[in-house]
This record gives sequence, C-alpha cells and structure tokens, in this order.
Amino acid sequence: MNLLRAPSLVLENGLILRDPSTSGPEVHARTLISGDIIASVNTSEKVDWSPGQVVDCSNCLIMPGLVNCHVHSAMSMFRGLADDLPLETWLNQFIFPSEAKYVSPEMVRLGSTLSAVEMALSGVTTIADAYFFMEEAAQAVIDVGLRAVIAQGVLDVPTPDAKSQGAWKERALYFFRSVPSHPNITPALFCHSPYLCQPGTYSSAAEICKSHDVKLFSHVAETLTESQLIHKRYGVTPVELLNSSGVLDSSFVAVHCVHLTDRDVEIFRDSQVSIVHCPESNMKLASGHARIKNLLDNGLTVGLGTDGAASNNNLDLFEEMRSASLLGKLVSKNPEAVNAAETLTMATIGGARVLGLDDVIGTLSPGKQADIVVVDLSQPHLQPLYNPVSQLVYCARGSDVRDVIVAGKQIVRNRKLCSVSYNVIKKKVLELAAKIASDTGKKLFQ
Ligand SMILES: [Zn+2]
Repeated sequence: MNLLRAPSLVLENGLILRDPSTSGPEVHARTLISGDIIASVNTSEKVDWSPGQVVDCSNCLIMPGLVNCHVHSAMSMFRGLADDLPLETWLNQFIFPSEAKYVSPEMVRLGSTLSAVEMALSGVTTIADAYFFMEEAAQAVIDVGLRAVIAQGVLDVPTPDAKSQGAWKERALYFFRSVPSHPNITPALFCHSPYLCQPGTYSSAAEICKSHDVKLFSHVAETLTESQLIHKRYGVTPVELLNSSGVLDSSFVAVHCVHLTDRDVEIFRDSQVSIVHCPESNMKLASGHARIKNLLDNGLTVGLGTDGAASNNNLDLFEEMRSASLLGKLVSKNPEAVNAAETLTMATIGGARVLGLDDVIGTLSPGKQADIVVVDLSQPHLQPLYNPVSQLVYCARGSDVRDVIVAGKQIVRNRKLCSVSYNVIKKKVLELAAKIASDTGKKLFQ
C-alpha cells in the first residue's frame, strides 16, 4: 500500500522533532497522515489534498504526543480537597473515606473525562490510568479521543467496586469482560502497593495479567513508612518481597520507586521491570526523591507520570518534565544529570516503552500511529529559540499546545477540544463537587 497517495491530514511548515532519544529538531516541510497512521515524515513530496486537510504549523514545533505513565484520572474530583499532608494521613483520613462515599461508575466516568480533557489540551496523547470501575474510565478516554492503558485497581481490602475482602479477583475478571473493545484501549491490572496487597494477591494478579498478555502496575517503595512496614512484616524490602513472589519481569511496571537499595536496583535491572517516575507527587507528599540518574545509568526503562490530581495537583506533563529534570540534578548534585533530551525521552518514547507501546507510538516514524502534538513557540517565555529541546523541557507549559492528533484524528484544534463539550462536563463536575464540598464542610468557589 502506498500511503502517500491518500493523505487524510497534512502538517506543513514549522519545526519537527521526530525522536528526542536519537535526533534534534529539523526545519519541517510536510508530514502526511493517512487514516490513523503516519505516512511520511518531513517530506518535500507534493501529492493531492484539499486545503481543508492542511494544518499550518508555522512558528510551531511538531513532536510525538506525550505519554503520562501513571495517573488516577477520576481523582480529579478530589483535586484540592486535602493538601499539605503526609501520605498516610492524606490517604487514611481524607482520600479513602471520600472514595468510599463518592466513587461510583458515574463519578469515575465524570472525573476521568475531566482529566482526559485536561491532558488532551496539554499535549498528552497516551495515559496509563489506574483506579476503580475502570470500564467507565476507558469510555471517558474513548469519548475524549486519547489512547490509554486502563488498569483495574486491586486491593486486599474492600474497595468501591469490590466491596468484600478478596473480591478484587472477580471484579478484575469482570473488568476484562466489560472493558470496551477499542483500538486505543489496552487493559491492565494495578495492585495498589505491597502494604495493601499481600504477596499471594500479587501472584494471582500477575497470573491473570499473563493469561491476558497485559501489564501489571503497582506503586512500589513510595515512602519510608512503606519500606519500614514491609521490613517489619516480612524482613525484606518491598522490591525483595515482590521478587520473592515471582512477579517481577518485563511486564511489571513499578511506580514511584523512591526508596530503593542498590540491591533493589539490581533486581529491577535483572528482571527488566519498567519504572514510572512521578516527581511532583513525590515532592508534594514529601515521599522523597527517586534516583533517576542512577536508574537511567543502569539501563532501566523509565517513563514519567503525574499521579492523580489529588496529589499533584495538575496533570501537566510539561511541568512534570521540568520538575523531573531539576530534581534529578539537585539530588545527584550534578547539573548535567537528567538533561533535557533524556527527560523529553522519558515523556515520549521512554513512556511508550514502559507501556509496551513503543512499536506503536512515542516517535514520529512512518507506519506508527499518528499521535502528534503541535506546540506554539511564539509565546514570550519560549523566545528566543536557541535550543528547542531545552525550551520544551524548561520553559514550555501545557497551555502552549495548539493542536493534538491521536490516531490521525484531530482532538484539539487551536487550543479547543473537537471531541466533547467542556462546558457540559464542567457543569456536571460542579454539581458533584458541590455535594462533596457540602458533605465535607468545604466551600466550593464558583
Ligand atoms: Zn498513584
């Protein structure tokens, strides 16, 4: 098939960054999209198309869509409800009680839609979402037009969608049966953490994931309290515990990984576990700092995640990149550490590798899915432009994203959503937020 004969969308002019892990920006002529596929990148070839199919990218940079490897989308409904608290207090006194009361299929659909809209407008094209009632989260992603790995939450304790002890397995199997079948959606499971899932739960969840050929995600070694608790219970580190449970391999995605020993890093490297770094959530909850330079130096695959909007509190991956790089330099006392290209790699093709989607997305390459972001470079905080990669990591904001294309469909055009009405979503969000505010004694400002 000659894809050049039938472009459905044509990007012209500006600059293009095909793959931050291997190349720098180029002056851009023309990139052709055919259906959901990138047909040709930066070509001067002229074929027939109508003016309505052309996106002029003058004064802009065309780049691969950003990959947010860890988010709890529905938790945007709890954004700002409880801040400035330690993780354990935040979780046990505010988040878990609020989840028990408000998390429902409708709430998950609404909060996930709000987050999907926020991420689409700020240049995220793929997310890895983990929470409850995840078939609803999948539908929200489909409605907004993103791509996603959708991970059903697994905990030993009762949860909003698995109300008795140990009911997680039945719920997980129901999720695999009911998650919408869609080319942009990949299912997965998410074991909350070694302190809320016993080793046997991890083993069973890993078995289910193997039988469906999907990823198993988990928070791992997020806080010192977790490490101390696991050591008290089992006499080992959280990573050693998971290793002895036989669940660590290339399909395991470990989120946070703040408190790792040298032996933990060796175990992750040898078992080919992928890592998700969530610097802003780790900073806000004062959990500590992941040793990202060390993990990258050891050849581990690392992606970036925002975590949920209740612990960040926004889902802007441009901000997350800046934080990841600056924090990486600070903790390694090395200004050359976690440089701009490495950071942008984590947010694009690195994240795609974490999710097992690197053959599909993460770079602008012919034959890959057309997941593309157009960043407006004309704003004062982005000028003058000596180094576009530095500019993207250290200066750009989500609001600089002008156009977003996922699977060849333009879901954001001139900073406006094409897929869903934000006004309709906002009205519903405020109705539910008013109820949450009145029940919790908070004031909702409108
Ligand atoms: Zn998380």
